[in-house]
Order: sequence, then C-alpha cells, then structure tokens
Amino acid sequence: MFDAVIIEKNDEGQAASFRQIALDALPVGDVLVKVEWSTLNYKDALAITGKGPIVKSWPMVPGVDFAGTVVESASPDFLPGDKVLLNGWGVGEKHWGGLAGLARVSSEWLIRLPAAFSARQAMILGTAGYTAMLCVMALEHADVKLNDGPVLVTGASGGVGSIAVMLLSGLGYETVAVTGRMAEKDYLESLGASRVIQRDLFTSKSRPLEKAEWAGAIDVVGGQVLASVCAAVRLHGAVAACGLAGGMDLPLTVAPFILRGVSLLGIDSTLCPREQRIRAWDRLAGLIDVTRLEEVVSEYPLSQAVEAAHALMDGRTRGRILINVA
Ligand code: NDP
Repeated sequence: MFDAVIIEKNDEGQAASFRQIALDALPVGDVLVKVEWSTLNYKDALAITGKGPIVKSWPMVPGVDFAGTVVESASPDFLPGDKVLLNGWGVGEKHWGGLAGLARVSSEWLIRLPAAFSARQAMILGTAGYTAMLCVMALEHADVKLNDGPVLVTGASGGVGSIAVMLLSGLGYETVAVTGRMAEKDYLESLGASRVIQRDLFTSKSRPLEKAEWAGAIDVVGGQVLASVCAAVRLHGAVAACGLAGGMDLPLTVAPFILRGVSLLGIDSTLCPREQRIRAWDRLAGLIDVTRLEEVVSEYPLSQAVEAAHALMDGRTRGRILINVA
C-alpha cells in the first residue's frame, strides 16, 4: 500500500481525497519510482478542485510533476537507485501522477535529476520553473536582447511568474512584474523585478496598438491581459504565452504582428520534446542560485495537498507549492 491523493468521479460529481492505495492498482509502465517530492501547479489545482477539465480518465492520481528514486526498472536507461524527475507527458491527466508515494511510468518520460539540484530543489522549480525557462529560451531565440528594453512578466507572484522574474533578472533583463496583488511588491522586487505594476493597467479593452513599451513579455494570464501586452510590445519584440489564469479568449487584432513585427510564441511544457527539456533543465542548473529557492516556496505534506490546491485556486498562495511526499 502507498499514500496518494486520488480524484474519483460519480454521478454527483468529482471528489479528491488522501488515502492508501494498493500497489497493484498502479498503471502500467517500465519504471517504478519512489516519489519523494511533488508540487502543485495551476493544472493540478484545476484537476483536484474540478474547476477545469484536466482529468481524462478516472480514478486519477493528480500531479504533473515528481522527483524521486527508481525502485524497479525494466528499461536499460534506468537502474534502481537512479535519481529522476518527470514533468508533464499527460501524467496526472491521463496517467497516474506524482501526488503519491509511488509512480509507475514510461521510462521515455523520465529525465535524470540534474546534478545541480536535490530532488527537493528540482521540485521547487517543477513544471512552473521548467516552463519559465522554456519561455525565456523562446524570447532569446526570438532575439530579445538585454538592451532592447524592459521585459514584462504577468501573473508574477504565481509559480511560473516568480521563477520567470528570477531568471530574467538574473540574466540581466530589466524585468517588470505585473501583479493583481500589490501587497507582493517587496517579494517581487526581492526576486529581481526592477518595477512592479498593477494588473489593472492591462485588464481594460486595449486599442489595436498601444504605446510601444515592452521589448518582450512572458504571459501566464491570457485573455485581455495578453491582448493588452501584445498591443504595447515594441518593434520586432516577442511575447511568450504559456498560461490561461485570466482566461482562454484572446481579444486582439493582427496590428501588433503586421505593423510592428511582434511575435507571439506559444509555450507547451507537457509534450515538449525530450532534448529541449534536457536543455531547459541544464539552463536552469546554470542560472538558478539554489540558496534563493526558499524565497519562492511554501511546503505542505501530501496529506494537505487537497487543501493547498483550493488555496492556489482561490489566489491565496504565492510562488511555488512544494509537496513533501516522503
Ligand atoms: P499560479 O496560480 O501559481 O499563478 C498564476 C498567477 O496568475 C497568480 O498568482 C496571479 O498572479 C495571476 N492570476 C490568477 N488569477 C488571475 C486572473 N483571474 N486574472 C489575471 N491574473 C490572474 O499558477 P502557475 O504559475 O502554476 O501557472 C500559471 C499559468 O501558466 C496557468 O494558466 C497554467 O495552466 C499555465 N502553465 C502552462 C504551462 C504550459 O506548458 N503552457 C506549464 C505551467 C503552467 P498575481 O496575483 O501576481 O497577478
């Protein structure tokens, strides 16, 4: 038996609980991992609270992330004792995930834990940190340079946003944080934001083109905020869009793209090719000062993951939510 969060569905709806599960209930896979640390991402909170259609098969152990130690392996790529991590691939959506003491998965979804990080540190970063890195790499690839001007991060006090602020400012970008919670101004400045501005400035309907202010942006919010950001990006700038915390719509015109050559870069961490994930984790290993990770984390035991998911959905959490599974 092992401890797990499990989401079950019946005629009355879905419910998530913390309980013990039998080993033989685990799904198929060629590697069995003892999960030590997991996390709560926005997607996990949507799954656990039922506020978004994340779960594709029932019952489901949520958790798109985990880090731990291989216990059994039928794959030549991993041996018992190897330290591994997993982000995405539909784990926690279609295949049982990381909010459990054990996970049985395909070896193709695992990567080795980077030597720079403990399992705990890797999960403080988790899918949010790896996605923030993919966003930064996309901006670099689009040639957004340090001296081109300020780069915005929306939803800055959340998981992706906090790590994005850390990464951009660490690289030397003038980083401007956008938040709905000005009470987090000191926190965001401590992560490296040179300015913190209110989300309200981006929530009213924008004109097709606004004053060109931003060299680039990382957006986790979507909706009107993303539209307003795109309308205010400088000539040949770029926006990496990874989230929908503010909505799925995108009420914008083509003006920023055809009149300013702005690029809108879609970021998908879930099915991102393995080589690119490894590159992103290598970059994180080189850029993140592990002594600063405690600034962005709140830790909960697995038994409290369901409560933490509700807190995240209600906007009562900040930075990254780490789940202690061991
Ligand atoms: P968090 O909940 O930690 O952060 C989201 C932040 O967005 C909040 O902290 C808040 O920041 C802001 N926000 C919340 N609600 C609203 C709203 N209604 N309108 C505007 N802003 C809002 O989530 P994560 O950082 O884990 O994820 C952020 C987004 O990125 C999610 O949509 C998630 O699904 C997506 N994501 C996508 C990935 C991909 O592969 N494409 C991978 C990982 C995440 P503040 O209070 O500072 O304004």
